[in-house]
Amino acid sequence: KVKPSDIPLIIQSCRRGVLGKEYKTPLVSKVVKKGPLLEENFIPGSVLRETIKRDKDSILEDIEKSNLRGRGGAGFPTGFKWRLAKEEKKDKKFIVCNADEGEPGTFKDRYILHKNFQRVLEGMSIAAYVIGASKGFIYLRGEYTYIRETLEKEIEKRRRAGLLGNETEKGLNFDIEIRMGAGAYICGEETALIESLEGKRGEPRNKPPYPVDTGFMNYPTLVNNVETFLNVNLICEKGVESFGQYGTDSSKGTKFFSISGDCKNEGIYELPFGVTIDKVVALAEGKDIKAVQIGGAAGECVQKNDFSKRIAFEAASTGGSIILFNENRDMLDIAENFMEFFVEESCGQCTPCREGTYRILEGIRLLKKGKCSVTYLNKLLELCETVELASKCGLGQLSTVAFRSIVENFKEEILGRLPEEV
Ligand code: NAD
Ligand code: SF4
Repeated sequence: KVKPSDIPLIIQSCRRGVLGKEYKTPLVSKVVKKGPLLEENFIPGSVLRETIKRDKDSILEDIEKSNLRGRGGAGFPTGFKWRLAKEEKKDKKFIVCNADEGEPGTFKDRYILHKNFQRVLEGMSIAAYVIGASKGFIYLRGEYTYIRETLEKEIEKRRRAGLLGNETEKGLNFDIEIRMGAGAYICGEETALIESLEGKRGEPRNKPPYPVDTGFMNYPTLVNNVETFLNVNLICEKGVESFGQYGTDSSKGTKFFSISGDCKNEGIYELPFGVTIDKVVALAEGKDIKAVQIGGAAGECVQKNDFSKRIAFEAASTGGSIILFNENRDMLDIAENFMEFFVEESCGQCTPCREGTYRILEGIRLLKKGKCSVTYLNKLLELCETVELASKCGLGQLSTVAFRSIVENFKEEILGRLPEEV
């Protein structure tokens, strides 16, 4: 069993880290549990064996009834995605567990892989049973190579127990392979991930078609996040009602958050959806916090007066990343750091993203130097709109959210830096 102290410190945030420094924290500096997901005593096979005694449709109905939404960030209804994949009439189908979390400030899947991996594998097997898939991939973030061996051993344990492989119980013919990412943020985007799985350059495809019908090797492919599979296992074990006792009407259940930045208690938190930002700041013991970044570089930067906002898909939405910034931070440093990240991680396939992010970064730097007029700032905001509308994938479409929210929510700080109109 891997102990937290055995695990090397790794860069937690993006490649460059928050505010230009490498952001290193141990696996778990603090774990806060306000829900059922963090239970660690789990007997491999205990949920799978019971679940596959049931009819596939009734399992699918439970996942639909639970209103489970994808935990990678987008919050797409999991049951609906499964139904679409199940209804496809192809001789081969695939399951992909997206373990390529790369959003700055997101490190919750790493924790789940260490602590609840058997439950994740079990969630994948249940999905395979329901949609009729025979092969699964775990696409593991390149920076997590050091846990690969441990994960391989856990998979092998399941093969030996007859829970994976060709001769599993009740005709479940399903095996899982780990494939490594190589450090590209874009490969967390599901179609770039699939390209990479196929051995090609990791570049997003046009959507539609969606992977549920045209995925790996053009076969129906169900892509879910690590935490989503964990929740599936829990719903099958404890039932829909138990799952639904947490969260809000539109965002059921609990959520893993990775909390970092200017606070005493950086770490992993399992909290019910609907928790306020205020509460998160208090739990993390953030002092003099003026801004909270919800959803990593691609998310909104919320200011103090709005800390009563709830964290949920229908309010302040995040795939897990929450970064706290205190009064000493320059908001333009933050905007610059996030935009540098997108410039570096853009795959370069389409012009609005490749060129637009670069131009916006130039503008932010002018703003920092006090050389950006109001007219120029307005042009930059127009460019943001173009990048959002014309980019091919989520990276470009969301690359401007942090900058725009900083300009909007910290107007005084930003406008105070502008010179008289030139
Ligand atoms: P998306 O809304 O395009 O899709 C979400 C999921 O729903 C996908 O699996 C997609 O295939 C499926 N889907 C959507 N419409 C469908 C349809 N009509 N038919 C069938 N399937 C359909 O979002 P996305 O681009 O996949 O993801 C964007 C999100 O990812 C953002 O919210 C962002 O915050 C998050 N993100 C997370 C990380 C991380 O590290 N966890 C990193 C980057 C981005
Ligand atoms: Fe690549 Fe950016 Fe275009 Fe996405 S939006 S396909 S990351 S260039």
